[in-house]
Amino acid sequence: MAEPLDAERELSPSLQEIASCVNGYDPKSLPVALAAEFIARLVPKVRSVEMLALRSALGRVLARDIVSSFNVPAHDNSAMDGFAFRGSDLAADADTVLTVAGSAFAGHAGQADLATAAPGECVRIMTGAVMPAALDTVVPQEFCQVDGERVTIPAGVVRTGDNRRLKGEDLAQGDAALVAGRVLRPADLGMLASLGQAEVPVFRRLRVAFFSTGDELRSIGEDLPPGCVYDSNRYTLWGMLARLGIEILDLGVVKDDPAALEATFRAAARDADAVITSGGVSVGEADHTKMVMAKLGDVLFWRIAMRPGRPMAIGRISNDKAADGHSAILFGLPGNPVAVMVTFYALVRDALLAMSGAQAQPMPLLRAASVEPMRKKPGRTEYQRGIVTRSADGAGWQVRITGSQGSGILRSMSEANGLVVLHHAQGNVAAGELVDVLPFDGLA
Ligand code: AMP
Ligand code: MG
Repeated sequence: MAEPLDAERELSPSLQEIASCVNGYDPKSLPVALAAEFIARLVPKVRSVEMLALRSALGRVLARDIVSSFNVPAHDNSAMDGFAFRGSDLAADADTVLTVAGSAFAGHAGQADLATAAPGECVRIMTGAVMPAALDTVVPQEFCQVDGERVTIPAGVVRTGDNRRLKGEDLAQGDAALVAGRVLRPADLGMLASLGQAEVPVFRRLRVAFFSTGDELRSIGEDLPPGCVYDSNRYTLWGMLARLGIEILDLGVVKDDPAALEATFRAAARDADAVITSGGVSVGEADHTKMVMAKLGDVLFWRIAMRPGRPMAIGRISNDKAADGHSAILFGLPGNPVAVMVTFYALVRDALLAMSGAQAQPMPLLRAASVEPMRKKPGRTEYQRGIVTRSADGAGWQVRITGSQGSGILRSMSEANGLVVLHHAQGNVAAGELVDVLPFDGLA
């Protein structure tokens, strides 16, 4: 695990350099969009590549363009079961009568199997069978009257070129079938299979370490003394990271103790590409998390213009700062369970995908009519937990808010099926007004 990772990652600019590039940067009140821009400039991308068997590559990030070395399909072929013929044989405004001269079956395109037909003749053809030479049109069999070897095509049911799939229409030889940075989906595995590609080059998985901080936290399985709570953040974080296909190092709960925090941060910085902590970054925190972060790295403490989830630490921490040791990107998230999840979706998720080598894909937002009015202050982005349903007339979507929206009420997140995103400049929302919603689940 302790292999050197720096050599395979790009070098990043300093935090000061990045801050000077972000127009309007204000660490005490940072709009979400500027925080995202800052983070995008900060994070390096993994470089090392591994070859994986096709099925193992599902959800992984393609590391090289895949160029088609042949045409798919390799030959013109029929899109229907029917009769192939010359379009020039079609009578202008009358039925066309042709004589069957042979048959063409899919997968039987050997020289000896190839059917031919003279003008006035046709070939019975199956879907996927190679088009016989000189024939350019297929009429589906259900349109024809067939009487022994005589086929009558009624006037007007086909035009020249119909029902013929062209050579290379799916993938032309020399085309980039898939471009590096693609997160491979089921359709992509199929495309790669259609190119005969048994293995694909993908970036190695990103390694992300996380831990929770706070004297009040207990891990499940432990007793729960008065005043303590079970640590839920390590489970929501685990779930969100697992869905991104990330290699996860769970470093447990760490007490508000400088020595324990320092040891854990060093281990994380040594072994991971990124470290996510929760808790201990609020203003006025009595704990030592911020102090240790600052000691081990180059870290900024932000107040983001968002709700929930205002405080956040961002930067790099090193396992050995003095000796220019291995460093990892630090995402120090607030402790409140909803704030952790919202900050992750708003700012961390895209950054981890970029680090994994994935090309940026904006998350699609749904437009839904708000069932009730919502209070919203301009000047910060708010993420309300919402339940989206089909609107009564079936024409669109509507959204209502899940009960209490306190940032510690994880139930609001669990009941929701999406986040209502009330943008930075937006004000109060009237009942019936359309709002943006980030759905939690799409086609997996
Ligand atoms: P903090 O940001 O450390 O001030 O924590 C804010 C609130 O979130 C406090 O009520 C903490 O008890 C709670 N909290 C912090 N970390 C966790 C965790 N891992 N699981 C559940 N609650 C947490
Ligand atoms: Mg705390």
